[in-house]
Amino acid sequence: MARYCGSSCRLCRRENLKLFLKGDRCYSDKCAFERRPYAPGQHGQRRGGKYSDYRTQLREKQKVKRIYGVLEKQFRGYYYRADQAKGITGVNLLMSLEARLDNVVYRMGFASSRTQARQLVRHGHFLVNDRKVNIPSYQVKPGDVIKVHAESQKVHQIVDAMETVLRRGIPNWVEVNKSDFSGTLKSLPNREDLTMPIQEQLIVELYSK
Ligand code: SF4
Repeated sequence: MARYCGSSCRLCRRENLKLFLKGDRCYSDKCAFERRPYAPGQHGQRRGGKYSDYRTQLREKQKVKRIYGVLEKQFRGYYYRADQAKGITGVNLLMSLEARLDNVVYRMGFASSRTQARQLVRHGHFLVNDRKVNIPSYQVKPGDVIKVHAESQKVHQIVDAMETVLRRGIPNWVEVNKSDFSGTLKSLPNREDLTMPIQEQLIVELYSK
């Protein structure tokens, strides 16, 4: 599966928002966005003019893709399924992104960023309902139990992430049992539980053109 291999900090600067893509570094004074809070590139410090609707919608879509580490083709697939499902398309879209296994692992605090969670899942460190799953996009369902594989409970990235997770907090829609390296997805979050500034309606408008 293709993935973005460029600079993560550049993405935050482009979106003019801290996307928290690099774990611990995002909370330190090394954060590139804190140091240079303007767009990357030669013209990054130019004053912005009036932006078109299309630009605003495009930037919103790019921001959400980058937060969840999903590329265009896969993101379109999420949108298509969200549009087909019952309910509000934008909310359906966010819920299916939140239900990705790499995101749930990150939310439970077994990884310090979604990028790291994706790599740990790929390397087969997690079980879902006692079965090994190494697909980051796997859709976790309410009631599913995620567990760190017994042989992976000493992996330092996982141990470090579990020690520092309190800094960002564990959301109330997951339940984590640190002593046995497991967690349960109690339910999908409500829209108001997602605190990143996302206007999903703009993405729907962009794709509906
Ligand atoms: Fe973004 Fe984190 Fe880099 Fe800061 S350190 S710019 S929050 S990825």
